[in-house]
Amino acid sequence: MQLFIEYLIILAIIFFISLGVYFSLGLMMMAINKRHPQARIQKKRDGMKRVSVEVLASVKALGTSAALLSAGYFFQIQGWVLFEPPALNWWNFLLAFVVIFLLFDAWFYWGHRLLHLKRFYRWHKPHHLSIAPTAWSNDSSAVMDTVIEHGFYFIVWLLLPVPALAVFALRLFDQVSGMIGHSGFEYFAGRSTRKPSPFLCTIFHDLHHSQFHYNFGNFLSVWDRWMGTVHPKYDEIVRQIEETGQIPEEQFTRVNKTS
Ligand SMILES: [Zn+2]
Ligand SMILES: [Zn+2]
Repeated sequence: MQLFIEYLIILAIIFFISLGVYFSLGLMMMAINKRHPQARIQKKRDGMKRVSVEVLASVKALGTSAALLSAGYFFQIQGWVLFEPPALNWWNFLLAFVVIFLLFDAWFYWGHRLLHLKRFYRWHKPHHLSIAPTAWSNDSSAVMDTVIEHGFYFIVWLLLPVPALAVFALRLFDQVSGMIGHSGFEYFAGRSTRKPSPFLCTIFHDLHHSQFHYNFGNFLSVWDRWMGTVHPKYDEIVRQIEETGQIPEEQFTRVNKTS
């Protein structure tokens, strides 16, 4: 019973921090976007129509994510893991961060591909009801969708000697980059976000929502490029924005029907 209460306290702290990050970053991004209407990607769609549904779904999904992350952390502090983490220093923090960043990117890509299979798509469909995503859409996912995509935040503690700070830092980075990636406004398109760079900009995942069959990756475009699932016009669109400073609207009007 004592252990369970300890777990609940950790869960409550992580959940409230997650909500704090979600709402403060969401409001901040709304304020920034309002001042830059030209940066809107899908100019003919209003993603904000779904905001109340998405915020409600996000609170539940953030609860699921927090339950997974706090369970993993709790297992580690109890010693119920394969390897004890080393004492924290900058080197093992950075090394662990890079390793779990790459592992999570692979986990997310394949988990996401799995969710797009006919058999599992019903779990992922609620997330895809956002055709023109906003910052509020990032966590608008069903419980099973979150369990599959964020299951990593439980498993990683059990299998690797990860310093806790590295996992928390990755989860925070994931939350911030995910909300920017769903914001519907493009500020980062440029040389560093198109071929041959592995990095990506907001348009990458925006295309996943508007055109569905491409761009399953999270942090990097590497897996999509290896597996041939990167949107055929992604690099060209980014180059166009880089050269003209304008979002090529016509590229975002077509929607392929979901399966
Ligand atoms: Zn998807
Ligand atoms: Zn999404």
